[in-house]
Amino acid sequence: MTKLFDRVALIGIGLIGSSLAHAMRKQNLAGTITGYARSEATRAKALELKLVDRVYSTAAEAARDADLVILCSPVGTYGALAEEIGHVLKPGAILTDVGSVKAAVVRDVLPHVAQGVHFIPGHPIAGTEQSGPESGFPELFINRWCILTPLPGVDPAAVERLAAFWQACGSNVDVMTPEHHDLVLAITSHLPHLIAYNIVSTAADLEEVTSSEVIKYSAGGFRDFTRIAASDPTMWRDVFLNNRDAVLEMLGRFSEDLSALQRAIRWGDGDMLFDVFTRSRQIRRSIIAAGQDTASPDFGRSAPKTQ
Ligand code: NAP
Repeated sequence: MTKLFDRVALIGIGLIGSSLAHAMRKQNLAGTITGYARSEATRAKALELKLVDRVYSTAAEAARDADLVILCSPVGTYGALAEEIGHVLKPGAILTDVGSVKAAVVRDVLPHVAQGVHFIPGHPIAGTEQSGPESGFPELFINRWCILTPLPGVDPAAVERLAAFWQACGSNVDVMTPEHHDLVLAITSHLPHLIAYNIVSTAADLEEVTSSEVIKYSAGGFRDFTRIAASDPTMWRDVFLNNRDAVLEMLGRFSEDLSALQRAIRWGDGDMLFDVFTRSRQIRRSIIAAGQDTASPDFGRSAPKTQ
């Protein structure tokens, strides 16, 4: 693969930033990778792991002269970062991000984008519950979707170039509006995380009553929620603060459906429960058929070691 960009700047080097660095190295997509990280520890680790060729303590230094600048920090930081780098971006550069919400990113970043810079928001639908520069790996984006939400009037050639970048990282690329993205992700990602955070919190309160039993018997289902609920608190705080309307809309629907299930249990309506559970099982099967998860029992976990 020929290099797609001479110089790529990663603004934030956590799970997503470091995975992008690994993928770029592996596919030889960038001449030089520069990085900005807030903490000295992350800057040192990024150099040690050779994620970046040069690392800076300001975003402006990292972004200067870059052909592709990717915001990879929590969504709540994008406005201030865009303000800082806005005046140093070179004409013709592509500015993108990986944030989990899109309309709020457009609201916060667009005012700082100079004419001649191609601002194309993006979101790779790939991740784990791990954080930090050591958590990344080059295969994170393979066979996952990356959603781009270009605004009207943006140069189609720049969108093509960014799409080619994500495809070279292994992703399939979809294009939609920021608002539609936020609605889709509210139900497929944001609400599941909220539910997981909530069920773990409910169980944590119960734990005082049942001592260690919540942990001991977690294989009954609880532990699968705890994996999602172990995700980075800063990132997820910012997601809910910045996708409020879509999340509240989906939460309203969810609460209605939960009440219907509650009612079915109260009135012994087994048919209703059976129908809902059957439909859910089919959705699980279509996710496996689409290659978005493994069909191995228990999510492919190996049996616990017996020693
Ligand atoms: P992460 O592993 O926690 O890394 C976050 C990075 O942002 C770190 O380099 C951190 O710097 C930096 N940072 C945190 N707060 C900052 C601040 N106030 N100012 C400047 N830099 C700051 O996070 P991540 O999982 O890579 O997520 C990054 C972005 O990707 C988020 O916008 C998230 O919505 C999006 N995303 C995440 C996932 C996922 O599953 N994790 C999936 C898709 C998209 P230090 O290390 O120096 O603290």
